Amino acid sequence: MYDVVVIGAGPAGLSAAIACREWDLHVLVIDEYPQPGGRLLGQLYQESNGEWWNGIEETKKLLQKATELETEIRCSISVHHIEKLNTGFCVHTNKGRYNTENLLLATGAAETPAPIPGWTLPGVMSIGAAQVMTNVQRVRVGKTGIIAGINVLSVAIARELQLAGIDLHSMVLPTVNSVTKQAGNPKHVMEGLIRVAHLAPSAFLRFGSKFAKTTWVRDLALQFYPSGGVKMWGMPIHVRKAIIEINGTEQVESVTVCKVTADGERIPGTEETIDVDFVCIAGGLYPLVELASVIGCPFQYIEELGGHVPVHNEQMETPIEGLYVAGNITGIEGAKVAAAQGTLAGLSIARSRLIDIADISDKVTQAMENVKTTRENAAIQFHPGINEGRAKMEKAFHAYM
Ligand SMILES: Cc1cc2nc3c(=O)[nH]c(=O)nc-3n(C[C@H](O)[C@H](O)[C@H](O)COP(=O)(O)OP(=O)(O)OC[C@H]3O[C@@H](n4cnc5c(N)ncnc54)[C@H](O)[C@@H]3O)c2cc1C
Repeated sequence: MYDVVVIGAGPAGLSAAIACREWDLHVLVIDEYPQPGGRLLGQLYQESNGEWWNGIEETKKLLQKATELETEIRCSISVHHIEKLNTGFCVHTNKGRYNTENLLLATGAAETPAPIPGWTLPGVMSIGAAQVMTNVQRVRVGKTGIIAGINVLSVAIARELQLAGIDLHSMVLPTVNSVTKQAGNPKHVMEGLIRVAHLAPSAFLRFGSKFAKTTWVRDLALQFYPSGGVKMWGMPIHVRKAIIEINGTEQVESVTVCKVTADGERIPGTEETIDVDFVCIAGGLYPLVELASVIGCPFQYIEELGGHVPVHNEQMETPIEGLYVAGNITGIEGAKVAAAQGTLAGLSIARSRLIDIADISDKVTQAMENVKTTRENAAIQFHPGINEGRAKMEKAFHAYM
């Protein structure tokens, strides 16, 4: 019987395990990937202050701390079921069962698919897959590619691909369909683009960021959007063009792109063919919450957090006794926020276990403050209105209690 089982060895899970070990709890961390680090392993970008965020180095730091504290981490183990017992939980995996009094779900996020005709051809991949192949497995994804989907994640990963010497033709939208919806709408996309302006050395985007909340300026910018696109790191970004088809017989050979109106409707007669040998589809991220649902945790749909999220409070507790959540399962944010939430969750668990022998309430309060400060200073913000989303969740938690 463990005091805590943590599912997910990303920044949230590792930070939580460290916090628990610092209070001498008996902890097991499980991850289905062969090595710990989660999505951190693929991350490499320059922050607005000019410093580089290198996910592999950040993972090493977390692992060193976890090792010093003799934290038990087991990889290549997949959790497929969890039972709620009277005395805690039984975690079912492909390598046996583990009993624990407390359970922390830190399973992260997954990518939303954006279907485009031809997307089953070899050479089509999600933008996250391209990131993992490039930065984790060091595999060249192709010679020249195009990215379908313009959002915070695709802009960050495009830069990572370029730094690895991969040629990107451009970044365009997916066509509007019942799945892509807003991801194919130039007005909606433009708002997102403006939010990453501080990452781009582009006068146009810096100009745009000053007026991010002014609809008429955004609309004007869209109306007069340059036909050659706006370049970010030398790569044109086209918010008024969309991929309508991916072409090829054995593998990707080209894509058909057309111009779209400011609302995303195709403009007939504007089709052009672009030769590429790979296509990255970037549909956005959503919280990976299935395991919370298996246990019977209540959910709340909150757009600003990325979709359906397990109900939880500011201290990472769910309405189910002994069940905690941290990181992207609680809403899509960057790795620093995930790590801060992990530390907070670990301290919350320690407080519940050690209530009679130690007062760690001050530490929990400090950790809550740290989550907020980290969020305010985050270089990457995936969703606008994240604070509103968090406030909605707090309200939802109290409605359940
Ligand atoms: C494709 C992709 C790319 C991203 N790129 C960036 C980026 O460049 N910059 C950035 O700031 N943020 C990025 N993010 C957001 C990223 O999720 C956070 O930065 C951060 O890694 C979240 O930390 P986490 O600990 O919550 O989850 P993760 O880091 O995602 O870790 C979750 C871990 O849980 C494990 N897991 C999940 N389900 C199970 C199961 N059933 N059994 C066992 N193990 C399981 C996974 O294998 C994974 O290792 C990206 C997210 C995705 C999905």
